Amino acid sequence: MRIFQVKGQTWVIETPSVLIPIYRLPPDGSRIILIDSGNSGEESQALLAFLEKESLTPLWILLTHTHFDHTGGNAALQQRWRTKIACPIAEAASAFTPRFYKLNYQTFTPAECEHYFEEFRYQVEKFILPTDQVIELDGVTFTAIPTPGHTHGHTAYITPDNVACLGDLLISEATLEKFNIPTGADRLLDSQSKSRIRELTCDAYVLSHYEARSEIKQLCDHNLASSRLMYDSLLACLQDGMFLFEWFASARSALGVKGKNDRLRLVFERNMLSAVEYLLDSGEITRSWTGTGWNFTKTKK
Ligand SMILES: [Zn+2]
Repeated sequence: MRIFQVKGQTWVIETPSVLIPIYRLPPDGSRIILIDSGNSGEESQALLAFLEKESLTPLWILLTHTHFDHTGGNAALQQRWRTKIACPIAEAASAFTPRFYKLNYQTFTPAECEHYFEEFRYQVEKFILPTDQVIELDGVTFTAIPTPGHTHGHTAYITPDNVACLGDLLISEATLEKFNIPTGADRLLDSQSKSRIRELTCDAYVLSHYEARSEIKQLCDHNLASSRLMYDSLLACLQDGMFLFEWFASARSALGVKGKNDRLRLVFERNMLSAVEYLLDSGEITRSWTGTGWNFTKTKK
């Protein structure tokens, strides 16, 4: 783990799996506000040890969304420093019971949500509404930008240094290459959020996965183009009249998706499901009832 400056009081803690932007409060910068808290397990313990070593005191965690690799340090930091948490209201339900993780992990059963997310319980101090444009935490003012799509309540923040912390709204070129089907809960809103953010004029941008950079226009275009490629590759796996499970199997095989464990296999199905929903809503496929199940068919152009 290491820490580096982006601009002014805005720095980044680089962990093995995500970048965590932090804002260091004047005058000495030892009191900090984190944007997300990284992964759970060993990484959250390593984050705690790193903050101790650097003599940093986390006053707040401002959450972009509640995927497990963004909330993993919440409980540990709250326990150690009584760190307060601000969370978009559409994401915050999962803090009360892991069963509500179904909002963003819809292919998991309620019991699987409990199993996988039990360690993610934490207290939310401040609920952020989609209409909140300004978030003030201990005298520090962040601009909030609702960016739904990756998850239903995903929110980006601009620090007082005019640095945009984009969470998972955009991913870097290198990260894009690793994912056949990037995560998305509502893919139409996700595309609209990516297009809107293109017009931001910030001095720097931090992507949780996994880059700090000074411009994003090309990257927005690249992310949007890769979504289109994903739809096209899924459509290529659909033979007219397939049931959903047949289409899933065909896509797994064609895209070479292995899935290291059951959680990642369920995540793949969640991502595929939201892509199918997008293709239905956009009219590129139809589903028809056969009497025993739904058949999926490409719309003839
Ligand atoms: Zn995410």
